[in-house]
Order: sequence, then C-alpha cells, then structure tokens
Amino acid sequence: MALVLDGVSKAYPRGQDMVPALLDVSLTLEPGQLTLILGPSGGGKSTLLQLLGGMDRPTAGHIWANGVDLTRLPPDRLSAWRRDTVGFVFQSFFLLPHHDAVENAALPLLLGGRPPSVRRQRAEDMLDRLGLANRARHRPGQLSGGQAQRVAIARALANDPPVILADEPSGNLDTESGEGILETLEQLAHEDGRTVVLVSHNPDFVPRADRVIRLRDGRIQDDSKPRRVARPAAETFRPMRAGPRLTALLGEAVASVRRRAWRSVLTALGVAIGVAAVVLLVGIGQGLEHRVVTGTLQQASLNTVIVSPSQSSHALSLTQVGSSSTVVHPITAQSVVRLARLSGVVGAYGTAQFLGQIAQGSRSISLVVQGLPPRSLWHHATLPSLLFGHLAIPGRSQAVLDQASVDALFGLTKGQERRALGRRFTVRLSTELGGATGSSVAGVSRRVENAVTLTLVGVAKPGFSSVLDVSAERVTRWLEENRAPHQPLMYGGAIVLARHVSLVKGLAAKIHRMGYGVTTTASIIQSIQSAFSILETGLGILGGIALVQSGLMIGVVMGMAVLERRREIGIWRAVGARRRDIFVLFLAEALVIGAVGGAVGDLTALGFGSLGALVFHVPALFYLPPALLLLGLGFGAAMATVAGIIPASQGARLSPVEAIRTE
Ligand code: ADP
Ligand code: MG
Repeated sequence: MALVLDGVSKAYPRGQDMVPALLDVSLTLEPGQLTLILGPSGGGKSTLLQLLGGMDRPTAGHIWANGVDLTRLPPDRLSAWRRDTVGFVFQSFFLLPHHDAVENAALPLLLGGRPPSVRRQRAEDMLDRLGLANRARHRPGQLSGGQAQRVAIARALANDPPVILADEPSGNLDTESGEGILETLEQLAHEDGRTVVLVSHNPDFVPRADRVIRLRDGRIQDDSKPRRVARPAAETFRPMRAGPRLTALLGEAVASVRRRAWRSVLTALGVAIGVAAVVLLVGIGQGLEHRVVTGTLQQASLNTVIVSPSQSSHALSLTQVGSSSTVVHPITAQSVVRLARLSGVVGAYGTAQFLGQIAQGSRSISLVVQGLPPRSLWHHATLPSLLFGHLAIPGRSQAVLDQASVDALFGLTKGQERRALGRRFTVRLSTELGGATGSSVAGVSRRVENAVTLTLVGVAKPGFSSVLDVSAERVTRWLEENRAPHQPLMYGGAIVLARHVSLVKGLAAKIHRMGYGVTTTASIIQSIQSAFSILETGLGILGGIALVQSGLMIGVVMGMAVLERRREIGIWRAVGARRRDIFVLFLAEALVIGAVGGAVGDLTALGFGSLGALVFHVPALFYLPPALLLLGLGFGAAMATVAGIIPASQGARLSPVEAIRTE
C-alpha cells in the first residue's frame, strides 16, 4: 500500500499558541520498502507516524492511502481503517498488562469481530512465527523487553495489515533484541511486501534501510530517495470487517470487572443496597395489602355477587324510608338457573335464612339457620372455617354449629368441642327471614313450622352471631314444605359466583339490570387496594432514592476508571477500536456491575424476607413475587447502565494520541 503525504502540517495547542510539530511535509512511501526515519528528539517523527497511521489528523494537507483520503474519513471509519490496514509497534510496547500474550496479540482480531477460535489460532500462529510459542500464556510483566516487543509485533500482524509503523521499537531493548526486531521488520517489507516505516535513533540501521529520511524541526532535512508526490485517484474506504462482537466486548467487560475485584464488589454492593431497599419496601407494602385483602376478607367471597329480590333494599334504608313503591323480583328455582347461565358465572344457588331455636336439657339458644352452598360449588364458594369435624353432607340429617353455640348448648369449654361431634339435637324453625342480606321480602317475615333432629358433624369458628349450617337441599325442602298453595318456591336470595374477581363488577351491573338487588365485596376490596397502591408508590419512591444514590456512586467509580485507564483506552484505540467500541465496553462494565448488584440485592431481600417471617412469625411479611425480584434486578442493571453513560462517552471521546501519551 502506497502512502502519500501532500503538504502535511501539524501543530499542537500549547496555552494560547499553536506549536508546530510538522511543517509542509510531502512524500510518497512505497510498499515492499523499509523506510527509516531519523532525527533529533522533538523533530516530529512520532507525529509523522501517528498521522500516517490515522491516529491523529493533520492541521493542513492531505494523506492518501491507496487513494483513500484519510483526512476526510469520519472518526469511526478512520478507526476501522486503522484496524484493517495498520499495525503499530511502540517504543514502550503498549501491551494490555492484564491480558496474556495470546490475548494481546488477538486484540485486533477481536475488534474485527472474529470468533474466539479464529482469534486464538491466528494469534498463536503469529506468536509462533515470532518464536514465542512457549510464552503464549505469559502476561507482559512476565516477559523480557525483547519478548514483549515481539508480542507487540504479533499483535501488529494479527489482521495482516499492509502497513507496519514502528516508533523506536528497539529503544528500550538491548542490542541483540533490537537486531532481532530489525530483522523481522526487514522480512515484513521485503518478503511480505508491506509498507514498513521505522523510526529509530540507531545509526547502525541506516545501511539496512531501503530509504532514509531525516526530520528536524518538523521538516524533511534529507531524503535518500526523494520521489515526486503524485496525487492518486480518489477511492472510497470500505471496512473489511464489521465491528467486534457484542459477546466479545461483554467478555472483556466481565474480565475487567473481575480484575478490579474490590472496587467492583464495593460498587455492586451500592447497587445491591439500593435494590434490596426498593424490593423490601415495595414487598412489605404488598405483604400488608395481601394480609388485609386475603386475611380479613376471604379470598372466595371476592368473586361473589349477593342477589336479593328487592332492588331498593339498601336504598330503602338510606333515602326511601316508608316508600311503598318497592318492586319485588321473586327468586325462584328458574331465576337461579337463569343467573347460573349468565356468562362468566361458575354457578349460582338460592339461599334462605330461618330463625331457629335449639333446646338441650335446661339449655336453649336462638340462632340463624341457613344452607351451605351446594356440594358442586364447594370449590368456588365461601365455606365456614371448621375447627373440628366436617361439613354437612347432603341427604343426611347433619349440621355444623359455631364454636360459641356448641359451648353454650353442650356446656363445654373452648377447645373441648370435638367431644360434641356426633351428638343429636332438635332445631325448631320459627320464622323465615326474607332476603339474602337479612332484610325481609317486601318487609314480610313468614312464620314457618318445622322441627327436625340433626347430628352435629362440624364445629365452625365463631362469627358475629350464632349460626347453624345445614345442607342446601334441606333448606330447599323446608321452603317447599312451607310454601303457600299455588305459589312457586321462592328463595330469600341468591349467591352468584363469578369465574374471576375481575368479572364481578360487570356481572353485578347485569344482574342489577335484570331487576334484582346486588351487593359485592369487590368494590370494598378495590378501595382498599387503591389505598395500598398509594402506600406502595411512596415506599417505592423511598427505595428509588436509595437506588439513585447508588447509581451516582457507579457514575463516580466509572468516571475514575476512565481517568485511570486512559492508557488502556489509548492502546485499544491505536489497535483500531472505534469510539463506539470503547463506549460499549465501559457501558457493558457498568451493566455487569449493576446486574450483579441487582442479583445480590434480590438475594438480600429474600434473606431479610425469610428472616422477618421467622422473627415476627408472619408468613408473608414481605411479599416478594418473582416479578418484583425481576423488576429489582432490571432496575439495578438499568440504573448502573444509565450512570455509566457519561463516563463511557468520556472514555470514547478520548483521542488515541492523547490517551496513549498518558504516563
Ligand atoms: P519526536 O518523536 O521526533 O521526538 P514528536 O513528534 O513526539 O517528536 O514531537 C514533535 C513536537 O510536537 C515536540 O515539540 C512535542 O513536544 C510536540 N508534541 C508532540 N505531541 C504533542 C501533543 N500531543 N501535544 C502537544 N505537543 C505535542
Ligand atoms: Mg517520538
């Protein structure tokens, strides 16, 4: 590849002034030749090499590489050109100190998006060619200067570039090693046909070079084979390869996080504390909500619509006292079937309540007698919570009585009720209480006459009043026996069970439109839930503040990392990393730290959750469903990534020359 400089000048800013480093340099460099550049220190040799290699841009003039005008390439294109076309060798090697020889040599291949196996194979071949096969797994610190420089040459050759630029490669080496390097460079020019430019102080190299150029004060003082500069035909540059694979950059990020173990752990801990705080605070809000909603109000009653024959049953008590225009929709067996067939309904059943009396020896109690849901709906309906025994089985003369009533009736003390199981007693019904909500049908209570002997099979938790539960069939039979002639059987009310809580509202409205009175527990629950969502939001914000704080911490740490790793960034850039590669690399580091922190935060929250449950004997004190934990993890990772954006773009903006000059 021919390199053409046409009237190239470079000046560096120093304070207010611009100090010239190169002044109007024009020359053409030939492929297959070893060009030696000599001159006193500060003469502009390094500057010339950096411009030739696309590490920097001239202040004036043009540089063509096979017709491609380097001065016009956009930054990431220029980096890709460098990656595909140039191999740099520096005086102080500029190897990545924590990567071994193979990894160092493979860096340009990584940036070129090659798969790991190809990278390793090619890097090993290059090291082999340079006589370093047995040093492949050594770090730069474990190599002699000569070996380190040969690793750097292997790296320069990894992408098989047509141009090799070496800036005093033997400056830090003993004579013998320096001689070896020169031999290699000669081979690269004469055998491979590459364009090789060597900057050196060593006058012994002069006879070995095809051409010698002397630079002083930024000007060409002497050129052994001056050649007229011909402006080549313009060509466009297309990168030979795509950028690095995301997995490769992620792998580098993970390795970097692990290398800085202590700092990474501390930073991740910051994220973990933030995530744990958010998850625990939201979790305790949800736990409270769960306890109130599912503990106080039973889960099953949520999907229930209580149907009464009279629409004005609650309006009556509020506004329409004394009104006589109450419309009654009797709930017959057909009505129940119709309700059960509504869409979204699991089942429906008619209900009736009676006032009853049980006398047992000298003891006597009054209670409400009612039917259990039909057996087919036991899975869906609210059933009495039993302390002992079982529910009344249809077709048998069985009953369930609440604990307080059992004690009163059989003279037992609390806890002994099991002894009453199997006892028989007679209940006398006196009145039918109309309406499922307790109000009477059209304000009328009917007298009923029934006496039946039952066996106690279950003891239920005590409620607000004494209740005797019998089977649904028995209630229907009583209504049948007490019905007036030529009148259909009429229930006091009906219970409709929705397939899901979310259907209850619509169902209640539909049943209301049919003319019935409706009551639901869902409306109560909804208002409780909205109160809790406010609480949870507040707690979430509190935790969020902790998270933001840890995000700031990551930002600071990453910012420090960018400052500290300027040299490393410079090496990556010199080898051809584009700005966006550096950006992705640092962002990936933040992401890794954030994700690890998020995971640790989740585990901490889970630990505290179980500890809380143990200490306070409350099962779900913190309610931590997988979705919440996932959210915590995502939050931690996202927060760290956002915090990493500014430092990452700072790192990406560093010019390779500036970064590499950092000592
Ligand atoms: P050489 O490699 O021949 O010793 P350089 O090209 O490194 O010379 O430097 C040429 C001149 O430009 C010197 O005066 C040096 O101080 C200056 N110079 C080089 N690089 C920079 C830079 N990045 N910023 C400011 N001045 C620079
Ligand atoms: Mg120099």
